[in-house]
Amino acid sequence: MIEPARCHIVIVGGGPAGYTAAIYAARAGLSPVCVEGYASGGQIVRSGEVHNFPGYPGGIAGADLAERMRGQAIAFGAKMITDEVVSVQLTASPFTVTTLESAYHADAVIIATGASSRRLGLPSEDEYDGRGVCYCAICDGPLFAGQRVAVVGGGDAAVEEALALSRIASHVTLVHRRAEFRANAALRATLADSPVEIRTPYLLDEVLGGEAGVTGARLRHVEDGSTADLDLEGLFVAIGHEPASGLFEDYLATDSHGFLVTEGCTRRLRLFRRHRRRTLASRPSHPAHVRRTACS
Ligand SMILES: Cc1cc2nc3c(=O)[nH]c(=O)nc-3n(C[C@H](O)[C@H](O)[C@H](O)COP(=O)(O)OP(=O)(O)OC[C@H]3O[C@@H](n4cnc5c(N)ncnc54)[C@H](O)[C@@H]3O)c2cc1C
Repeated sequence: MIEPARCHIVIVGGGPAGYTAAIYAARAGLSPVCVEGYASGGQIVRSGEVHNFPGYPGGIAGADLAERMRGQAIAFGAKMITDEVVSVQLTASPFTVTTLESAYHADAVIIATGASSRRLGLPSEDEYDGRGVCYCAICDGPLFAGQRVAVVGGGDAAVEEALALSRIASHVTLVHRRAEFRANAALRATLADSPVEIRTPYLLDEVLGGEAGVTGARLRHVEDGSTADLDLEGLFVAIGHEPASGLFEDYLATDSHGFLVTEGCTRRLRLFRRHRRRTLASRPSHPAHVRRTACS
């Protein structure tokens, strides 16, 4: 049995949110331990160039940005642990965070485990991922200025992405497998007034491409099985996110999509009623916190 190391704060997750939390906690003198998982840097590492982070007018490679954040946290005294959290005990303070190789007792736990974009599950999607297949219009939309793109999805995010892209791309097609969109009524009204072309009910059958990346997409009509090809330079998949919240579901409330629910406008998470709040052992005037700093 490993004797848990005692600390003020354990941050679970080594993406931009975890590193940001580590910088702030370290600067506050709380000597945070950041268990960053084995995908250190998080999703941003997959971004070839980040253009929306202040201070980098020419853009910065996602991996470089993550490394800078990590280095900044370490410089202020955060301890980075390359390890994976496998279980937590959030019933009573000090909370216990158990990793593959170790364990920690902490007064506060900051959850920054992120989320991953849902994928269509097509081999051609994997082949052209980052070569025309994208998952974030805010991040990658400007790369397709004046070009033809399609968005796949039917919820708020898909409609918002299609509308945002219609201000950048030369032509946007929104592809949805159902005849009706799940997006809210206001978004549907804006969509109806927009130049976005709607193709329903169609499934995306295959991403078409060549050496240079995406050149099109093959759609299949859900009812009659007929196919139609679109000429495209970019394809945005907007079918939701999978939160990495499974570890915490026994202790913290989640919404119907599995995202942790915060209290009001705060980042504080709601412990289930059966779990009692205690006070921070080392900072008696402060309540014990279980916090999530950001979500993607
Ligand atoms: C291809 C791509 C390009 C993007 N480009 C941009 C862009 O240009 N601009 C922009 O603003 N955003 C961009 N994004 C989105 C951005 O990367 C995310 O919003 C951001 O990374 C979310 O940060 P996060 O820290 O909340 O979560 P994540 O980045 O998902 O990080 C989660 C971290 O938690 C760790 N973790 C998970 N479970 C455990 C566990 N059990 N134990 C320990 N660690 C764990 C993971 O290893 C990971 O390090 C892009 C995303 C992708 C995929």
